[in-house]
Amino acid sequence: MNRHARGLPRNDTPLQLAEVLDFRPDQGIIRLHEQRVVILSAAAMGLLRKELVETLGVETARRLLVRFGFADGYHDAVSLRDRSAWTRPEDGLRDGAELHTLEGIVRAEVVRIEHDRATGRFEQEVVWHDSYEAEQHLHHYGRSADPVCWSLVGYWSGYASACMGREVYFRERECLSQGHRACRAVGRDAEGWGDELRAIREDFQAASLGQEVERLREVVGRRVKELDRRERLLERRERELNLLRERVSRHAASRQFIVRSPAMDEVLEMAARVAPLDTAAAGDVSFRFDAVRLPQLLAPSRPRAPPLFA
Ligand SMILES: [Zn+2]
Repeated sequence: MNRHARGLPRNDTPLQLAEVLDFRPDQGIIRLHEQRVVILSAAAMGLLRKELVETLGVETARRLLVRFGFADGYHDAVSLRDRSAWTRPEDGLRDGAELHTLEGIVRAEVVRIEHDRATGRFEQEVVWHDSYEAEQHLHHYGRSADPVCWSLVGYWSGYASACMGREVYFRERECLSQGHRACRAVGRDAEGWGDELRAIREDFQAASLGQEVERLREVVGRRVKELDRRERLLERRERELNLLRERVSRHAASRQFIVRSPAMDEVLEMAARVAPLDTAAAGDVSFRFDAVRLPQLLAPSRPRAPPLFA
């Protein structure tokens, strides 16, 4: 491989956070070029990651986070490219390492970049120090047998693919979570992965991931239908309550009840509330608590009730 780009020095000064990000505290907005970005707590991201693992299983969670990272990295590269107008993709790759460090995701150290412009062959090696993802994994699960910086792998793959204008995939070879001092990853163009390419592509755009998404959509769809059903039931009960209140009021008026004591109001309200609950499955039979019987209902607890009514 010709190594046209090996060890190329940067031709500009390192990125500064305040220059890269546009802080608009009055609007509550932070932008990276035109793209809105947000600051999230590492602990919250760690919990989300844990929820994904426990809800979907390790493999599906891993793929989702790889895909999430890919989109994140791709967006960052496009935004930074528009802002920085790189003349060489290698400059963009180094800016990406600095941006990822500035964002607090990981302290990234680019070990080497090899790029053969004639053949398109590409390889990059990077060391990640203090990966937040590895820290969160260790916090929740302890030491891991395999590398766990899934969203970082996705981010660097997405970022490098956008920079190089072609498929580039990273794989993590060593990880902090396995007991190494730092994480180490290698990125290559698609062809450079040889027999591993198929498995890697499955991680990034697997049909199984699509099926998993479809399954989740069905689950969400079922839950939405259940919520709709409960909402309709509540509406029906509310209508029944209102009808019962009206009926009680009309009956009280027709019988010329001129006194409405607090106790009377309380019983009427209780009757109105209890009836629909008792009759939830039986439609309009809630009117079995007909207001005609209310004076009788009152009688046992209010022996002097008759004088209250005209
Ligand atoms: Zn790692």
